Amino acid sequence: MRIGLFGGTFDPIHVGHLIIAEQARESLGLSKVIFVPSGVPPHKHHRRISDAASRLEMTRLAIEGNEHFELSDFEVGHEAASFTVETVHHFKRTLGQQVELFLILGADSILEISTWKEPEKLLSQCRPVVAGRPGYDLGKLEPELRKRVRILEGVLVDVSSTDIRSRVASGRSIRYLVPASVASFISERKLYSGASST
Ligand code: ATP
Repeated sequence: MRIGLFGGTFDPIHVGHLIIAEQARESLGLSKVIFVPSGVPPHKHHRRISDAASRLEMTRLAIEGNEHFELSDFEVGHEAASFTVETVHHFKRTLGQQVELFLILGADSILEISTWKEPEKLLSQCRPVVAGRPGYDLGKLEPELRKRVRILEGVLVDVSSTDIRSRVASGRSIRYLVPASVASFISERKLYSGASST
């Protein structure tokens, strides 16, 4: 059985995330994709991150109705910074050795994977599946790493959580950039409306 793991800050989750998860599921024949919102992301200390419960709830709302998508609170349950190598190890152990794990990443993430904790150990436990992203050149991947990565064919989606936060902060529309249920949640909870949120 093949399973996809998709980690992210998801602050907020947007259509770019959903589209690449679906592309990965379809092209690799994944039984399911498990979305894993991060606890305290090791790479994003420079801004205030929305509380874990809100990011978890937005992810739950976004994937609702897709029987192949699941939510895990594994990382948000940890106080300390979450490292992907530990998360993948956790799923390898709990899902069983016969499961083939695929790690879904955007181009920006794979280009910085060498800065992550124990990249070799990480790559020995799962196969990265990478979606292109406007502004990030996958041609810059080291040839050795390129061989171990599966690159998804498909549309490039020029949407980021940063852009969505700044749209909300300046009162612009985020309609169609996030599922309607997520847009309602953001508006009800008044997320991203403060100046320090981007
Ligand atoms: P931010 O703008 O806050 O940095 P983000 O939009 O990059 O957020 P994350 O939650 O950090 O969203 O992303 C989780 C994963 O999804 C990362 O591997 C990232 O590369 C990937 N990703 C996010 N948006 C896209 C996109 N539009 N196309 C391809 N990959 C994406």
